[in-house]
Amino acid sequence: MAEFTTAFGQDGPEPTRPSSAMFLTACAVCAKALNNDEARECEKCGTRFCGETCENDHRAQAKICDDTAEDGGAELIHINQKGRKAWEHAVASCTEEAVGKTCYICMEIVDDGGDNCVRGCACRGDSAGFAHLSCLAQQAHGILHARIPGDPGENLYEFAYPLIGPAIDGWHMCQICKSPHTKDIATALGWACFRLYMGRPEEDGIRCMAQTLLSNSLQKEDTYQEALPMIEALLATVRRAWPDNTDEIIQTSANLANVYKNCDKEEEAATIYKDLYEQMLTLHGPDVQAAAVGSNYAQTLIQAERFADARAVGREIVQWAHRNPDSPHSFHIVKALMDSLYKDPNASVDDLREAVEVFENIPATSSRVLGSAHPDTKNYEKALAKAKKALAEKNSA
Ligand SMILES: [Zn+2]
Ligand SMILES: [Zn+2]
Ligand SMILES: [Zn+2]
Ligand SMILES: [Zn+2]
Repeated sequence: MAEFTTAFGQDGPEPTRPSSAMFLTACAVCAKALNNDEARECEKCGTRFCGETCENDHRAQAKICDDTAEDGGAELIHINQKGRKAWEHAVASCTEEAVGKTCYICMEIVDDGGDNCVRGCACRGDSAGFAHLSCLAQQAHGILHARIPGDPGENLYEFAYPLIGPAIDGWHMCQICKSPHTKDIATALGWACFRLYMGRPEEDGIRCMAQTLLSNSLQKEDTYQEALPMIEALLATVRRAWPDNTDEIIQTSANLANVYKNCDKEEEAATIYKDLYEQMLTLHGPDVQAAAVGSNYAQTLIQAERFADARAVGREIVQWAHRNPDSPHSFHIVKALMDSLYKDPNASVDDLREAVEVFENIPATSSRVLGSAHPDTKNYEKALAKAKKALAEKNSA
């Protein structure tokens, strides 16, 4: 198994200790969740603690502290462990399909570490698209080098954040078929990418992109708790470094709201969605983006059991759906309204009837537009059945 930490070969850049700890969110001694205002950090090894008592406990164990510092610090050790695990998992998940295949980058079957190739894209057939993770990582780093003039070892404050987008393509999409890497490959490369660029200053565009890529792949893995501190830190950085980049701030805020929602922080998510929704209505009027954010906002309110608030938003955005009945966005939007009606434990017969009426045609429309086997179509059929059941039960009660 190739070492994740030597993925870039002998000549690869040495990662430096990250400029801020994002993953160490629990006390290393007592495992208590760290409140950032009171958290303390060992200056020597970067281990973090809930307070003085736990820090003193750590100070009494000089050997552990020395070893941790020698291995690059607590945050880097954590990142190496996570990255190595994702790396091994990605290679193992492709074994069946990729064993014995030739890497299209280095033309070898196994790499220096004895790893097979992987394939996680839209390439098909017996030979297309197989590559070693280490080769994909080196290729991605090379693309970045070639597309950004000057030495990528320098700070790139002058490169505005979105401008480096295409330069980082290699990290998230196959260079042959141009489709995004699947979950396992994306996660392995996400950790490798972040590890490579994390030593750069926080307001460096490349570091921000690496942070975005990794947090996106953590969300695909359903590890929202790990993605949360990364996105919070990213949003703070983007606001500070690119205060005029409204699009990026909106995008990152929406991303953070989604992570909050999935970490059971509905109120925090609802606050952001409300802001975004109102901002979009002001910026572009009730367009598709406003309606899409509105449906996320409504779903968050439902999760927070604020059904009346959710219905109010649902009734506003459903207007957009009525004007665009065949858009897949409309299906989500109408579902938000239906959910706000039938999921309310205090729903009246009229509410339940309205829920069924507004959504009645959606499964058939989705079947026509997306296909009957599409997972969304299946979900809509199930959701409508639940609303109908709630209505039938209320009627017979
Ligand atoms: Zn503690
Ligand atoms: Zn220490
Ligand atoms: Zn290779
Ligand atoms: Zn491909």
